[in-house]
Amino acid sequence: MADRPRIVGIDLGTTNTLVASVRNRIPKIVPTDRGNLILPSVVALSGKGDLLVGGVAKDQMVTNPRNTLWGTKRLIGRKFHSKAVEDLKGYFPYDIVEGTNGDAAVTAGGKLYTLPQISSFVLSQLKTIAEQFLGGPIDAAVISVPAYYNDNQRNAVKEAGRLAGFDVKRIVNEPTAAALAYGFNRGLDQKILVYDLGGGTFDVSVLHLAGNVFEVLATGGDTFLGGADFDNRVMEYVLERFREETKVDLSESPIALQRIKNAAEAAKIDLTLIPNVVIDLPYIEERKGKPLDLRIPLTREQLNALTGDLVDRTFEICDRVLEEKGIARSEIDEVILVGGQSRMPLVQHKIQTHFGKPPRKGVHPDECVALGAALLGDSLGSIDAVTLLDALSMPIGYALPNGRVKRIIEKNSLIPMVKSFRLPPPKDAGSPFIELDIFQGDSDLMVDNEYLGTVRVPAAAAGRKIDFRLTEECLLQVTVEDASGMRKVDLATRDTPEALKKALQEAAARTPPQVQSASGSSDDRGLLSSIKSIFRRG
Ligand code: AMP
Repeated sequence: MADRPRIVGIDLGTTNTLVASVRNRIPKIVPTDRGNLILPSVVALSGKGDLLVGGVAKDQMVTNPRNTLWGTKRLIGRKFHSKAVEDLKGYFPYDIVEGTNGDAAVTAGGKLYTLPQISSFVLSQLKTIAEQFLGGPIDAAVISVPAYYNDNQRNAVKEAGRLAGFDVKRIVNEPTAAALAYGFNRGLDQKILVYDLGGGTFDVSVLHLAGNVFEVLATGGDTFLGGADFDNRVMEYVLERFREETKVDLSESPIALQRIKNAAEAAKIDLTLIPNVVIDLPYIEERKGKPLDLRIPLTREQLNALTGDLVDRTFEICDRVLEEKGIARSEIDEVILVGGQSRMPLVQHKIQTHFGKPPRKGVHPDECVALGAALLGDSLGSIDAVTLLDALSMPIGYALPNGRVKRIIEKNSLIPMVKSFRLPPPKDAGSPFIELDIFQGDSDLMVDNEYLGTVRVPAAAAGRKIDFRLTEECLLQVTVEDASGMRKVDLATRDTPEALKKALQEAAARTPPQVQSASGSSDDRGLLSSIKSIFRRG
């Protein structure tokens, strides 16, 4: 068929993954799993050693927790020795280990898997499903990622796509994809705010839409604020009420906790539709040979009281993002909701009071990201292609000997873009190399940022031009000047980010901060060969 799509858009979510394709300019979600439109982002190894993906993998979450890998979107592209992985280790029942390249990796069935591999299992399942549904090979994809994903995380998702057999044409930010689903080909001239409250994270972006030009004006969020926090509040309430009524503390019983966690989330979701529920868990515990039942009513008002401060926090973040760019709330023409938790009536009510208008109806909070990614894929290369002017969500810079970061590219810089500067001299006078350890993050302190890699060039290159280029996918490319012009440098990784930070901290204690100056240049021969021979990425 002439118009059969060969490219799909994929929303690779923390909880669920969706795939969409465009036919005759209309994007549609492809049914993926057991007749549903979503594929749970879960990969598992069965007791027999079979690889399971999607609903069947999720089914064994309670019975085989150590071999069931869920929520891996929070781990992909992270270094094993990073604060984020440290914080998440206790959260997952499966083992998180150090991969050969220093990245976090996971184990299942006694075997080590990289996180791009795990995501690739989900993506290749989608590829097969989409090919069957659309009736032919699908070779290309546009895959969405959270706007706050750093360079490592974006590269890791691209790798997952490649491993699944896709030519990944673009990595697109989720809010930008949602905006596309709303505004594509509608000839709008509007400022919109995309409010994305998912299972684990909150993300906000403000965009200006002018025809098919989508410009991100500002972005921000909190990577530890989402639906799971709402569930925890309900859980704490249930545990407390049960303790009051029975004097029994269930917080020591993992099975009871798991049951309460599931029931808390279900109650929260039900309260979106109905005003009262009863959390009913028969035989939650046994005391003196007698079963104890849990039966606790919960109203929507009580849920609002338990979680109102979490909702308020999302609006504080919205205000901060708007203030950073000097945009007034009244300038926002539409608020687009994304993410399951944004369905909560309190969220919708507060949008109305905060922005003076109700959220936009007609944009599906679960589907819009995949639909937008598919629209972008379909438009790539066509005459009336969309223009995306995205923004960098976290600044990029390099570590100074005093433990601070010298910012090179500021937050909210419009991408694609390039920033040039002169290579500083080596940190230690007399060292044969200049090493720039590159970090990304909001803090001025290196230790609080994410390590991206190291540029290592001979000391003779001091004073030469170096470019930090951000591609349209928000990926960093570094080029350094040599005799034949600007040459690309592959970022290298050092031992571990922690070892690097420690070494730099020790150096900071020994040496006073150095003044940067542009000086000297000489022998170009071997500049690139030495860069490449000394380090290999990963
Ligand atoms: P997402 O990551 O976008 O799939 O969002 C998942 C989160 O949305 C989970 O915390 C769900 O409990 C929550 N969620 C899904 N549906 C609803 C609903 N109708 N009302 C409130 N929360 C919901």
